Amino acid sequence: MRNAARGSLLDIEHLKAEEIVGLLNSARRMNPQKPRPILKGARVLLLFYEPSTRTRSSFEIAAKSLGAMTTLVQASGSSIEKGESLLDTSYTLRSLGADVIVARHPNAGAPALMARHLDIPVINAGDGMHEHPSQALLDAYTILRHKRNLKNLQVAIIGDIYHSRVARSAIHLLSKFGSRITLCGPAEFLPEVAMTLAPDLHITRTVEDAIRGADVIMLLRVQKERLAGMKTSLPDYVSRYQITASRLKLAKKDAILMHPGPIIRGLELAGEVADSPQSVILEEVRNGVPVRMAILARAFTGRAG
Ligand code: ASP
Repeated sequence: MRNAARGSLLDIEHLKAEEIVGLLNSARRMNPQKPRPILKGARVLLLFYEPSTRTRSSFEIAAKSLGAMTTLVQASGSSIEKGESLLDTSYTLRSLGADVIVARHPNAGAPALMARHLDIPVINAGDGMHEHPSQALLDAYTILRHKRNLKNLQVAIIGDIYHSRVARSAIHLLSKFGSRITLCGPAEFLPEVAMTLAPDLHITRTVEDAIRGADVIMLLRVQKERLAGMKTSLPDYVSRYQITASRLKLAKKDAILMHPGPIIRGLELAGEVADSPQSVILEEVRNGVPVRMAILARAFTGRAG
């Protein structure tokens, strides 16, 4: 077993602040409208064990914008369904000529395991409840298009924090740059253990407290099926945590509202809020492409920029 190949992106937790800055600067130089064939002829394998709309298609567009070829392997319709192990599937894809594998898997640590056994970079496109590093990078990129820097920004993260790899990656990234983070959600979605993720996290169960004076409001997906088994029912969640136009007014005037998608109007947020000028939800999707171009370029060159 070896260390992950250079250029792998497995998590935000172990990325240095300067590597993050390097990736964000590189993303700023990427223009999906003006393809740069810097990865001409390279093969990018997209290995998805879980459904995905945004992440998968934006990695694909990013790879193609850099001149690479892409192949999608999904759990259904592949040998994975026949019980092939993750490592055997990885070796097969490597033998087919993969130069980099972008992997999404329901188990935390699956991309890291692949990376330790393969001699090519592996990019984590979301692993279980662990991390979603490319989402955190595109979120930081989006915030920085609206705010001067991340230091001292007041960021409210609201929703199902416990099950969210998006939240974990965002917390790691924003804490490295000195943002002030407040987590908010019912106890089932926000156990006290969340406090150990980073020093100086604030927890509140009251959405008004979380939003008051915030620069950034980051919503997380809430699955209806999860609420079904909880003390907090769906109507409770909606009345206590949903972001409505009147709650949004508690934030700073120029606050931005984020959500990694898929959004559920009428649950995490009111429809009018999703479409309001403060919502940057579709901008996040758009920014996913240059950010993932930067991640792929780094995978091939071993460095950002
Ligand atoms: N699309 C994001 C993810 O795959 C957010 C979510 O599904 O909750 O992690």
